[in-house]
Amino acid sequence: MTTQQQADLIVRNIDWLISVDPTRRVIRDAALAVKDGRFVAVGKSATIAREWRAGSIAEGRGMVATPGFVDNHLHSSFQMSRGLADESNAQAFLFEHMYPYEAAGTEEDDYVSASLAAVELLRHGVTCFIEPGNYHPDATVRAVMATGLRMVVAVSCFDRNKSVTGLLPARMMETTARCLAKTEELFSTYPGRHRERLMVSASFRGMNNSSDELILGLKSIAERYGALLQTHACYSYFTRDASVVQFGQPEIARLEALGVLDEKMLLLHAGWLEPEEIALLARRKPTLVCCPSSSIHNGYGNITVGRHPELMALGVNVSLGSDHASSGTVDMVQEMRYCACGYKEARLNPRLMPPEHAVEMATINGARGAGLADRIGSIEAGKEADFVLFDATVSEWQPLYNPVSNLVYSATGNTVRHVFIAGEQVVRDGRLTRVDQDALLREVEASAARITARLDMKKMLKLRWPVE
Ligand SMILES: [Zn+2]
Repeated sequence: MTTQQQADLIVRNIDWLISVDPTRRVIRDAALAVKDGRFVAVGKSATIAREWRAGSIAEGRGMVATPGFVDNHLHSSFQMSRGLADESNAQAFLFEHMYPYEAAGTEEDDYVSASLAAVELLRHGVTCFIEPGNYHPDATVRAVMATGLRMVVAVSCFDRNKSVTGLLPARMMETTARCLAKTEELFSTYPGRHRERLMVSASFRGMNNSSDELILGLKSIAERYGALLQTHACYSYFTRDASVVQFGQPEIARLEALGVLDEKMLLLHAGWLEPEEIALLARRKPTLVCCPSSSIHNGYGNITVGRHPELMALGVNVSLGSDHASSGTVDMVQEMRYCACGYKEARLNPRLMPPEHAVEMATINGARGAGLADRIGSIEAGKEADFVLFDATVSEWQPLYNPVSNLVYSATGNTVRHVFIAGEQVVRDGRLTRVDQDALLREVEASAARITARLDMKKMLKLRWPVE
């Protein structure tokens, strides 16, 4: 009999464990052991029981374990915009709905929005997300860190206030120097005491409202800190065509000409590509973030014309993003299905995007996109213990022959039961452990009333049926 090693936590008798480790093993009757916030052993329950003991033992019977999901694109300050940008083409979506909403955002309301976003992400099994940048990063960090969630934070940068796509609201108009200074400030302020769970990135929000000088300046800051540089790109024929009109070339070609396209770049959407841009992406290997719900909600065509499956086959890292609550869902489990099914339908090809690809996009590819693939994204010894336990006893998980298929094609994030980050339980029985969700929902109600008073709701809402 070998001597048992001591762990802090063991979860045992898990029906199925989807590891996404290098061999992609799926383990039945599984257990995992956690010590000092990291997985120290993953395997069959019987083996772990023989080799490990722990102060805390949890039962995984009736459950499916997965790595924590990594959402590579979520606007935390848009969580309060649900239902405010429906049935809008790409230009109206930005310039008539989301930018006016964003420009009117107060620190108090962006704090509530980020808190609500963190609740929804965690409840749906997301353990890390990338914020593309808003105007209240300090409030965002305070709100998110209070929940225990991991985040890559950024501050919003635009310096071309007028483009052929439209005119930015006055409050969002900034100079290049101001954008660079506030990005420098973000890097010097954070991660600070949030070192373990907070990373910082540089972000220019969109290609057409950013000057070459801003893009190059942000790239040099990001390089100095070894950080990611992110931007929205190619999300509509309209952003691509605007780039051609203003800069003489489409968006990816412009990034290549500026010399900023590399593996430390995160391209949000990347749907509308010219043929030569596909070759550039395959050569430079930035991470592409496919955001299915945000495209199909208003018909922006990223699945219809997107080349994410081909780019994955060419060795490009493609991840998933839920983008924003204004397109309805903030649920990576639903994003996996939208992506896997959307591509099959658009291409009339059932072999495109098997569920395994969707799970990789939502876990290990997301971790790679965030620059954290050595720390998170899979359940394997040595990695930080971010994992999710789904309740597989509910009807949408039954019968359970193939857990990868059920996860992508049948489940929703609502069937997440427990979530752990670095071995700490942050969701227990569907509720957050660190924050009072009921108190937060009362704040959401008050914030919604303030937003209603502030915005021209007649322009924002499409309530077509009579309201009494
Ligand atoms: Zn976005």
